[in-house]
Amino acid sequence: MSARTHAITLIPGDGIGPEVAAAMVAVVEAAGSQTGCAFDWHSFECGAEAYAKNGEILPQAALDSIAANKVAIKGPTATPIGGGFSSINVAMRKKFDLYANFRPVKSLPGIKTHYPGIDLVIFRENTEDLYAGLELMVNPDIAQSLKIITRKGSTRIALAAFEYARKHGRKKVHAIHKANIMKLSDGLFLKCCQEVAAQFPEIAYAEHIVDNTCMQLVMNPWQYDVILTENLYGDILSDLCSGLVGGLGLVPGANLGKDCAIFEAVHGSAPDIAGQDKANPTALIQSAVLMLQHIDEAAAAAKVQAALEKVYAEGKTLTGDVGGSSGTKAFAEAVIAAL
Ligand code: NAD
Repeated sequence: MSARTHAITLIPGDGIGPEVAAAMVAVVEAAGSQTGCAFDWHSFECGAEAYAKNGEILPQAALDSIAANKVAIKGPTATPIGGGFSSINVAMRKKFDLYANFRPVKSLPGIKTHYPGIDLVIFRENTEDLYAGLELMVNPDIAQSLKIITRKGSTRIALAAFEYARKHGRKKVHAIHKANIMKLSDGLFLKCCQEVAAQFPEIAYAEHIVDNTCMQLVMNPWQYDVILTENLYGDILSDLCSGLVGGLGLVPGANLGKDCAIFEAVHGSAPDIAGQDKANPTALIQSAVLMLQHIDEAAAAAKVQAALEKVYAEGKTLTGDVGGSSGTKAFAEAVIAAL
């Protein structure tokens, strides 16, 4: 066994999840064997398919494993419709206080889009806002969702964004909001962002309203460097930004807390292509790159990223979503060969 073995909780998830997870594991194992590290994967079935099979959507054993390992990587999970289930993702983010959702959006070589050379990162608050799950029926005809914004939640996501900007030489942070309408909640979010921005005078700070941001991202996305925003706006802007660089099959993500981190792609379980060897595993493989950086395996992370970029630059073994005709497995084999 290698000198450096990392215990990682693995949740393959629903739909295309098991296919992209298998591809990711194969690539990470191959990179690890070349850079002197190994992985002890603790795998758990979670999600809608696990519920149908075992009657449990998020087993306690999976939560215990994440608590012990402090690092997990997951494929997409679906929430059974009806029956009052809450999303696994929301539950895990709350349970482990994974307050920062970090999503780097970077163009890969060889992919034809209208927007070459995109390189921005999104910091999305991950635990509150309308995703706090506080909903009630006021009466049979009126439903209410509570939007919770706190000083603590807003300040720590702003700090995460600015600290990242400082560490990685990013020049500008845009806080995205709708404080013109939600004066108290988004107003508090902005106030916290402004207070944090004042501690980072070398980093430019600007504020954009979320609807304008959507238009700006389509017209001139290159103006954005670090996007700092609340939970709902961040969810929507992440998908929009995925589209700028070639789609949901590409963009990785990390849910970061003080003690624990869970890595996952931006995309969902893609039931339309599940089980057909069509899914693009790049998003989960790039999520694994973030994970390898997080566990201080920089050499393995760099190797995987370089191999991915080589396969994209060559453009011979790509999946259908980015204009190729290869399958999930063939793509993963090409990345392994390029390592
Ligand atoms: P989706 O991301 O699953 O799919 C949207 C479109 O993108 C589909 O056409 C799909 O085929 C395509 N796509 C997504 N990932 C792809 C990939 N890796 N390669 C190629 N094409 C890809 O979004 P949806 O259809 O809105 O959601 C489906 C399910 O996923 C829902 O149950 C939703 O709740 C769940 N979901 C889970 C997560 C998560 O676990 N983090 C995130 C989003 C959605």
